[in-house]
Amino acid sequence: NTFAEIDLGDGLNENIRRCNYVKPTPVQRHAIPIVIAGRDLMACAQTGSGKTAAFCFPIIRGVMSNQLPKLTPCGARTAYPLALILSPTRELSCQIYEEAKKFSFQTGVKVAVAYGGAPINQQGFSIHQKLRDLERGVGILVATPGRLVDLIERARVSLRMIKYLALDEADRMLDMGFEPQIRKIVEQMDMPPPGVRQTMLFSATFPNEIQRLASDFLSNYIFLAV
Ligand code: AMP
Repeated sequence: NTFAEIDLGDGLNENIRRCNYVKPTPVQRHAIPIVIAGRDLMACAQTGSGKTAAFCFPIIRGVMSNQLPKLTPCGARTAYPLALILSPTRELSCQIYEEAKKFSFQTGVKVAVAYGGAPINQQGFSIHQKLRDLERGVGILVATPGRLVDLIERARVSLRMIKYLALDEADRMLDMGFEPQIRKIVEQMDMPPPGVRQTMLFSATFPNEIQRLASDFLSNYIFLAV
């Protein structure tokens, strides 16, 4: 019942200690080993359950162990994230970004954030600067769906290297009307050459639309309700 018992690796465990996390929360205790074992996951998780770490830890672990991909650039200055975390709002995206940065401190894993509602060159310390880190193919992108579609269309981001996809607060994203953008984004990842992608879907509620997303995006997934 400690993080040390989960096979997260030294760098990540050190950062977890630095954050003063001692015991995994229930969603972390169950979700992290499922993802490490290579399975897709649909998890019922509310705000405050510790869901951010539940998807960030296995993603960071996976990105750390990934060989640098051989890049076939689709354009100059295109970012090739290895992991994508989609969230409904600017506030939540920034929150996830800040946590993911803490968790990946000194691991070599880079994190970038992109959200809508503000000019791209006014986002924190320039999205372009952060995306440049991802051009080397070692990173995690946290994004809202609308802004990401925009970046894909301008060839600033390519999703062809994505190994991990997390959808956070999926029910809220659908309530906000992001389903077309989400489908467009996932289609990008399914374009050839087909890679192996692991997908995690987090939602507080499970209406039919969410179950439809799960059956369209996840393969052979485990359903977790804590
Ligand atoms: P979340 O549900 O991801 O928004 O997390 C809610 C809050 O709990 C955040 O402030 C986290 O930093 C904190 N938290 C997450 N996991 C743990 C843990 N295992 N031990 C202590 N605090 C945690």
